[in-house]
Amino acid sequence: MGEGAGGHPRHRVGRLRHRRAGGNTVGLAAARHHVLAARGWDVEQGGLQDAPHVRVLVGDERHSTIDRSLRLLGLGTGSAVPVRTDDNGAIDVGHLEEVLAEADAPTIVCLQMGNVNTGAIDDLERSCALAHDRGAWVHVDGAFGLWAAASPAHQHLTRGIEQADSWGCDVHKWLNVPYDGGLVFVSRPDVHSAATSMTASYLVGAGTGGSDLVLNASRRARGFAVWAAIRELGRSGLAELVERNCTLARRFADQLGEAGAEIGNDVMLNQVLVSFDDDATTDAVIERVQQDGTCWMGGTTWRGCRYMRIAVSNHTTTEADVDRSVEAILRCWRP
Ligand SMILES: *Cc1c(COP(=O)(O)O)cnc(C)c1O
Repeated sequence: MGEGAGGHPRHRVGRLRHRRAGGNTVGLAAARHHVLAARGWDVEQGGLQDAPHVRVLVGDERHSTIDRSLRLLGLGTGSAVPVRTDDNGAIDVGHLEEVLAEADAPTIVCLQMGNVNTGAIDDLERSCALAHDRGAWVHVDGAFGLWAAASPAHQHLTRGIEQADSWGCDVHKWLNVPYDGGLVFVSRPDVHSAATSMTASYLVGAGTGGSDLVLNASRRARGFAVWAAIRELGRSGLAELVERNCTLARRFADQLGEAGAEIGNDVMLNQVLVSFDDDATTDAVIERVQQDGTCWMGGTTWRGCRYMRIAVSNHTTTEADVDRSVEAILRCWRP
């Protein structure tokens, strides 16, 4: 990582730390620390009661966990300044530029890699450059989309990711390890530990251990399963997993589209939105598919319409599974 928020030289290697359920809260805690420190305010000591107002620029298609992180961090959802997104849910960079220019305040920009409905990835390169010009910290919610960076076929979508100041990512989605593992990468270890460290005289290695970089003091060795999965897959195995799932998502979209269903998103990763005739029919098809049991698809609302939401992330899913699932879905639509 190069120059970052505030223009100070940064450590080149992001730290990998494991916390429960996403890394957004820790990434945003580091962001909060940094943007206030740059204005001479120590949030760890002074809290937020008399602090300068922090604004958090977020796409209007952010994941709802971002709002919860803002609540927990005392910034409140009122600190969120929504930035418009395009048809596929990626941030409108022109609007981001306008909103950035609206105030000279401590600013956090929260970007997204992988919208849960569409898979959309924000333009990280241009967004990071604009945000850093204004001294903002950039946090990227890459819960599943960050894994796209492992795939050469998708690297063009992730360009600029190295410019961000923090990333949050999940291991229980695309890496296929059991639930409750999250990763947070912060480009500045000093800012990271300033936001999260704790000490006690009875602890061994206090001030330097993993518990100084996450929100829980005690936890089991979640990192072991992550290490084992990455070790087993290797670089090429990870790329193959991501690419295979994306190809299978395309297969769903192609076959359902050919059969007359409407595909509601630009399929760029492993997410497909499908609607059937109208909202009521779409909901009925989803229910029948869930009862049929061949595959399980949930429903979602995207831009005011109901869709079946297909997310292909299981490492065992095959072309034959997709074909069987499409058959079942079509049977549930037009018996
Ligand atoms: C799943 C997801 C989250 C929440 O992560 P959990 O660790 O499953 O709670 C946050 N953001 C995005 C974009 C997600 O897809």
